[in-house]
Amino acid sequence: MSGHAITKKKVIRRTPKGQKTILLKRKEKVKPECHICKSKLHGAIYERSPAKIHRKSKTQRRPNSIFGGVLCPKCREKVIIDASLIKLKQKNIEDVSNKERYFIESVLRRLSK
Ligand SMILES: [Zn+2]
Repeated sequence: MSGHAITKKKVIRRTPKGQKTILLKRKEKVKPECHICKSKLHGAIYERSPAKIHRKSKTQRRPNSIFGGVLCPKCREKVIIDASLIKLKQKNIEDVSNKERYFIESVLRRLSK
């Protein structure tokens, strides 16, 4: 195992007796958020220790769907619909925002396979 250090924050607490103790607090990791609308993703896990994530199965790590753990269901749907519209030439890729374009292009790459 490679030594993956977890950064800890030192917090000085006083016990009821008046003694000083140093608590080591793990730094909070940011919760996964949608890359387009920045809303919180529910299915994706945010484990503080990478080893713990590894112990879980793939489906426990993120929703087992396209862009699972990257986009929220709303944006995912929008991206897929826009991608199919572009594929059917009913929409122009220039009409979508830059943020979405990246995901739409990746859907189009999947569709063209
Ligand atoms: Zn979203």
